[in-house]
Amino acid sequence: MSIKTTDERYVAHTYKRFDTAIVKGSGCICYDDNGKEYIDMTSGIGVNIFGYSDPVWAEAVAAQARMLQHTSNLYYTVPCAELAEILCTRTGMSKVFFSNSGAEANECAVKVARKYAADNKGAEYHNIITLKKSFHGRTLTTLAATGQDNFHTKFTPLTEGFLYAEPNDIDGLEKLVADNKVAGILIEIVQGEGGVNSLDEAFIKAVERVCRENDLVFMVDEVQTGNGRTGKLYSYMHYGVKPDVVSTAKGLAGGLPIGATLMSDKVCDVLGYGDHGSTFGGNPVCAAAAISVMNRLDDAFLADVTAKGDYIRKRLTDAGHAVSGLGLMVGVTTEKPVSEVLAACMEKGVLCLSAKEKLRLLPPLNIPQEQLEKAIDIIIEVLS
Ligand SMILES: *Cc1c(COP(=O)(O)O)cnc(C)c1O
Repeated sequence: MSIKTTDERYVAHTYKRFDTAIVKGSGCICYDDNGKEYIDMTSGIGVNIFGYSDPVWAEAVAAQARMLQHTSNLYYTVPCAELAEILCTRTGMSKVFFSNSGAEANECAVKVARKYAADNKGAEYHNIITLKKSFHGRTLTTLAATGQDNFHTKFTPLTEGFLYAEPNDIDGLEKLVADNKVAGILIEIVQGEGGVNSLDEAFIKAVERVCRENDLVFMVDEVQTGNGRTGKLYSYMHYGVKPDVVSTAKGLAGGLPIGATLMSDKVCDVLGYGDHGSTFGGNPVCAAAAISVMNRLDDAFLADVTAKGDYIRKRLTDAGHAVSGLGLMVGVTTEKPVSEVLAACMEKGVLCLSAKEKLRLLPPLNIPQEQLEKAIDIIIEVLS
């Protein structure tokens, strides 16, 4: 049986796949089962920060797998402690909870906000405000947090206590806070799945101010924007704000499952023994991968991400296309239906993503300039 036939027969049909099996890759190039070569502008949806099978990353993973692949969270492990120290040192946050995905990182954020409010203001202060067009995950709680009606219909009842504000509407946000008993506010600085929409700087700062004025937990979902994607280590760092909770996942371990919920001094001891847990959370192999990723995301590397993002933006704008996003998180408005654009790019050997009706580009952060230029040439050709 072909890969496709076997998959269709035995794997649940929750993903509408392209008619292609990716079998191997190296750097920003990958190959399908017919040996066709593609330049990857997706990073596996913002995950493979250093591309496919990067040798430094692979060695960090293999060395840890040979040493200790897992033990339970009843014991300390070296990579888990080291990674937590790196994350806190580089963000100024105080403690980390490790999980395995973006949704779990956000679940933890919601638990922290609710418990902080219950401990300090009363359990009725349980509401969490998120934004319309946001995306926060697929669990029943993070679906509720996701501010898009179409995610709310099939699996009711979802977790209660979520309210949705219009992005960039400061008055609307203040009214929601005044009219409800609120625990915290959760935002993406650039909405990824919702269409690569950057929030206004004034709104981001207003979210922080409203949180401070009302003693709310200020949470930033950096699952997609984090770990260098936007040209800063975390995207909130563009705006000089200080969140109480930062959730991240996707790119953190460069291609292995990990979630991390970073907590500031204000909330870092809200969760105590038994309040939360995860069998695989802080897994040594995933943590070792993340340490190797974090150690390479230095200032020079991040400046290079910004320069590549600027290059993409300039090329596309010069060609007459409207672009959105930050750094190497790029949304492009297309006249042709985006599904046609994706198919045509693929035909010409470039893998791209969509976000709502936009074309979305999330290339590996270390994509060589030559391949980047080639991919953008093809994308512009397809778009015109
Ligand atoms: C992808 C994503 C999630 C969900 O992450 P999973 O690892 O799929 O659970 C949550 N928030 C944002 C902003 C994302 O982009």
